[in-house]
Amino acid sequence: MADNNNHLLLRANLKQLKLPTMTAEFEKLAREAAAANEAYEQYLLRLTELEVAARSANAVQTRIRNAGFPILKDFDTFDFSAVPSLNKPKVLELARGEWINERSNACLIGAPGTGKTHVAIALGLAACRQGKRVRFVTAGALVTLLEEAQKRYTLDRLLGQLDRLDLLVCNELGYLSFSRGGAELLFQVFADRYERRNLLVTSNLAFSEWNQVFQGERMTAALLDRLTHRCHIFEMNGESYRFRESMKTKKSRKAEEKS
Ligand code: ADP
Ligand code: MG
Repeated sequence: MADNNNHLLLRANLKQLKLPTMTAEFEKLAREAAAANEAYEQYLLRLTELEVAARSANAVQTRIRNAGFPILKDFDTFDFSAVPSLNKPKVLELARGEWINERSNACLIGAPGTGKTHVAIALGLAACRQGKRVRFVTAGALVTLLEEAQKRYTLDRLLGQLDRLDLLVCNELGYLSFSRGGAELLFQVFADRYERRNLLVTSNLAFSEWNQVFQGERMTAALLDRLTHRCHIFEMNGESYRFRESMKTKKSRKAEEKS
């Protein structure tokens, strides 16, 4: 009876202290500890370890949710042999996260379907797991957000939010060209991050073609100057993976039809 009462009180205290995992696990662990004749400190240590582990797993999940990835893709499903031009050891080095602490940038440049978005998501996920605040947006969506914020006089707030991110992933630069105003806003975001925060850009355009997006050679030159200083550049050449996969499916269907 006294035991029951203690359990109730303990449960209430743990709840008030916001320790949900300890609340859920203390009884089971206590039985195990009693059976194994464990020291009190050992029991408390094991119990607190569970709470700490659950918390950090939740924090990673929250960071991944907040990053806004369009889909979750990781390196385990990426076939490096399909893109021989991509420096695999270097990509995996980036996945370990040191580049983020060094405040350098990364660019993935290549034709459509070569896996740029896949790699960018996987690098973003790795950063989330390392405790970094990440946001994944397409260049087009980012410019729209910036323009709308400017119209609503909330640009400073948006720039502040972007500034708090460790890593901003700007996907698909080059598919759309922007108005002069939009390009200037994007330039401001990129320039603000220079040597302070990280930026990962994917683009189907070679650097020499970026003035199609940014309009005006001077702005493009100023931007590239900042972006490519201390930048890990990956060229992803080759055939579209998507295209290759769909050709394979078609071929195997034809083979089936014949047999
Ligand atoms: P990009 O951004 O360069 O246009 P994506 O990353 O969107 O290309 O790739 C297109 C599709 O092909 C995605 O579903 C992606 O997961 C897949 N894909 C591309 N390259 C590879 C690869 N090397 N290994 C596995 N899947 C790949
Ligand atoms: Mg893409």
